[in-house]
Amino acid sequence: MKRCTVCGEKFIPNSNRQKYCSDCKKKVLKEQRDKARDKYYRKKFGNNEK
Ligand SMILES: [Zn+2]
Repeated sequence: MKRCTVCGEKFIPNSNRQKYCSDCKKKVLKEQRDKARDKYYRKKFGNNEK
């Protein structure tokens, strides 16, 4: 049993490097995807943020 570093929930890791429960893993992966996409768009269209 390991403890999720995000929500603190106990979970059984599929690999010994897994840090998140399956719920948080989904969220974290999505966030990473969103960030990567964000970076990509910023690069492509320039940084238009104020
Ligand atoms: Zn979690």
